[in-house]
Order: sequence, then structure tokens, then C-alpha cells
Amino acid sequence: MLAISIQNLKKNYKETLALRGVSLEIPQGEFFGLLGPNGAGKTTLISCIVGLAHPSEGEVKVFDQSLKQNPLAAKMNIGFSPQEVNVDRFFNLQKTLEFQGGFYGLPYKESKKRAHELLEQFGLKAKSKQQFYKLSGGMQKRLLIARALMSRPKLLILDEPTAGVDVEPRHELWRYLRNLNQDGTTIILTTHYIDEAEALCERVGIIAEGKVLELGSPQALIDKYCQSQLCIEVDNALKAEDFSDIPQAQIIENKISVTSTRVGPLLEKMIHLILAQPGQHIRDIHLQRGSLEEVFLKVTGKHLQPTSINHQ
Ligand code: ATP
Repeated sequence: MLAISIQNLKKNYKETLALRGVSLEIPQGEFFGLLGPNGAGKTTLISCIVGLAHPSEGEVKVFDQSLKQNPLAAKMNIGFSPQEVNVDRFFNLQKTLEFQGGFYGLPYKESKKRAHELLEQFGLKAKSKQQFYKLSGGMQKRLLIARALMSRPKLLILDEPTAGVDVEPRHELWRYLRNLNQDGTTIILTTHYIDEAEALCERVGIIAEGKVLELGSPQALIDKYCQSQLCIEVDNALKAEDFSDIPQAQIIENKISVTSTRVGPLLEKMIHLILAQPGQHIRDIHLQRGSLEEVFLKVTGKHLQPTSINHQ
């Protein structure tokens, strides 16, 4: 079963082509990340999935329900935490969550119980009677995610859920999202933190100028775009002729290095040849591996910039 099926999605805002033909399938249960530079079209894509923006062309299905033909059935499966804070800032936290329950048709008693449960899980119970605007930026983000979970959605969509959140609460949120995903919730997030995508996502899509440029698991993309560099430092100066079996090896005094997609077999050879030299010892080994950051730079030509949170 596919959680999301998107066919040739296009979205124009007057002369701005925000999406230029996006096709994407996300299976049920996947943890999927959308990465892209500012203005790439991530929020527009998400807005089209949750029904906040109307596509100019193309089709979105959520658990097989067409957003165009059957919008209510499609949207009932979705919980959404937006990038912008869109909460009545004078409501207290308990009321904010109960209000959301009402939108999804939860009976009041059930809404109240679920709100209690989520405030507890998100470490916000002590603030349940406090007005939203009195929360710190990180707490506001947590409440937006709790609100998205009120209806126990099968698909959770998070637009930059940890922008501006400190490291410790960020990691806490990661643990929570991982558990939620393991319990069967499909999760789609956009993020400007590459470590977040690497830590959480089974697959990522790299989007730029309204098109999906790459799609795959972080490791598959690293294998496709990056090489690892291995350098061994030894006690005594090395001679190139002793390493003729490894033609790509670079030797500078007492260091030998190679660059390859798979350095494992080369490492074995290098160690064997080094230790065959009388009195030679390995002093240190350095390994520089490829990263999703490097993939992103190669695919988009840009670095991923963290954005700051919008406080109310
Ligand atoms: P960021 O990482 O900065 O949040 P993004 O990848 O989410 O960016 P979008 O917000 O989807 O990008 O914007 C894609 C393009 O569409 C941009 O050129 C943006 O200016 C434009 N755009 C987005 N929303 C609107 C709107 N409501 N009206 C007009 N243009 C818009």
C-alpha cells in the first residue's frame, strides 16, 4: 500500500513555477525526508499533499484516496505540523489540542484524554494551562507536533519540525518520531539539518527548483556520489616502488593514501605491504567517508542552510 502517490505535480504562483512536474511514491510505513535549498518547492509540495494549495496540474493520492475527488477521506489520514506557527497564541495548550480534536470529530471526552496523553509525552504537562505565546520556540514546535498527532494519523507530515530547537530536545523528538514510525506511522519531514535526515530517514528526496533531482537511501546516495579517502601513517618513509600493486596510491614521506568508493580491499593490501617492510609500524589510520552533505552539494550545487524558527 502506498501512503502517498504523486503524479506529475505542477504548481504555479502566477509566474513562479514552484513545482515543475513532481512524481513521487512513498510506501506505507516509510520515514521519508525532503531536502532542498531555500525556495526549492518543499513547502509547496507539502501544501499540495495536505490540501492547503491547489495543484495547477497533476494528482495526489493519500492512501489511495484522491485529494481532488475525495479530499475529506484523504485528509482524515494526515496529521500536519507546519513550518509557520498557526495557533491562536492566547489559547492554552490543553485547549489548543482539544480544539484540533474537534476538527477531526473526536468526542470532547476523548479529545481531552488524548490532549492529556500528548502533553505528557511531549514533556509539556506542567504548561498545559499556559497560553501558547508564553512557550519557548522549541516548546512551540513540540506542541505543533503534538497537535498533529491528536487524530492518531496514519501519515504524519512535518515541515521543519526541529528548526530552532536545541540539541537535547531535538534528540528527544527524534527518539519519539522513531518510535512512532516503528509503530507503523508513515512520516514525511522536510529539514535543513542534514544530520536529522541521515539519522531518521530511510529514503530522502533532494528537490531543487521544483523538481526531484535525486531519490534514495542516504547510504545509496553516498555510494553513488562520494568516495572515501583512506590514509595510513607509518614510522618510516615509504617508497612508491613497494606499492606498485596499488597504482592509485599516493605516497608522501611516511603517509600513503587512496581514494575509492570501496576502501576495504585496498586497506588489506596496504597493511600487508607495509608490514612486509622490516621495522615498519603503523602509527595511525585516517578515514574520511562521504556524507549526505557532500551528496547534497554535488546534486544541487548548494550547501544546506539551517533556517531559524518563526516565533510569534
Ligand atoms: P524554504 O526551505 O525556504 O522553506 P521551500 O523549499 O519550502 O523553501 P517553497 O516555500 O515551496 O520552497 O517556495 C517555492 C517557490 O514558490 C519560491 O520561489 C517561493 O517564493 C514561491 N512561493 C511559495 N509560496 C508562495 C505563495 N503563496 N505565493 C507566491 N509564491 C510563493
